[in-house]
Amino acid sequence: MQKKIWKPCIIALLSYSLLLCGCISDKPPSPESDSIAIEPPYLPSTETSPLTSETLPNIPVEQPQSWDVSDVSLSDVDPSRKLISFTFDDAPSRTLENILAVFATFNDENPKCKASATIFANGNRFDHTTPLLLSTAYSMGFELGNHTYAHRDLTTLNEMELLEEIQKTDRLLSNIDGKSQHLLRAPFGKTNELVKNIAPVPLIDWTIDTLDWTGISADDIYHAVYDNRFSGAIVLMHDGYKNSVEAVKRLLPDLKEDGYQVVSVSMLAKAHNCVLERGKIYIRARKRA
Ligand SMILES: [Zn+2]
Repeated sequence: MQKKIWKPCIIALLSYSLLLCGCISDKPPSPESDSIAIEPPYLPSTETSPLTSETLPNIPVEQPQSWDVSDVSLSDVDPSRKLISFTFDDAPSRTLENILAVFATFNDENPKCKASATIFANGNRFDHTTPLLLSTAYSMGFELGNHTYAHRDLTTLNEMELLEEIQKTDRLLSNIDGKSQHLLRAPFGKTNELVKNIAPVPLIDWTIDTLDWTGISADDIYHAVYDNRFSGAIVLMHDGYKNSVEAVKRLLPDLKEDGYQVVSVSMLAKAHNCVLERGKIYIRARKRA
């Protein structure tokens, strides 16, 4: 059924001209550690503001501590394979339909090694084409993640601004996947104690930064991933760059040939028995007993 849905969707979407602004890129993440959760240097927020707005976001009273993966299906995950997670930031942008088409073609040819990814979206990039585009991705098994509303440096925001940045995009994504919360990727990977305290969900950084936003070649993006691959890694790429699309086209079959399956972050965490906790930052999810 999915096959019948996504093909016409993608073809239709290819005809759209997405009137979206240029991509904002992330800088390299905090350094790795041996644990899957890391604590980056504290970056104090410089702003405070009175809580007087009429549009006050909802302040979470009580948040579950662990990311709920009970509805994450592993039916397409081959337990004998190594797993690696692809993530695409700054979505939706001008290449998302091409990214989906690459995955769809691969999945058609490899029904026992279906690939998916997590798409981290910015609410202010949504336009009239977005619901169909992201619905198509979701129906293909992709996970929708929150990259905030306006891609601001979260370390410069106060509590109310942080909640607004997170909740506005959660609501937009909820209209598509029905979920009230989504994994959060901070723009530029920049966080501080306040962000971690406010975030209602785990924060997802990355292991492998492709630096695709710098204009490097598809071959360089390919090698950034392939040469540094390991089971449990999280790969950072961006929507909006045709070289990333070309690299993914080569990576999916080559990773499969090397015994990997490409999955979303929540699939990776669940399959590897990694519990993701709210307010903590994760750069990988190695397999745990
Ligand atoms: Zn970004």
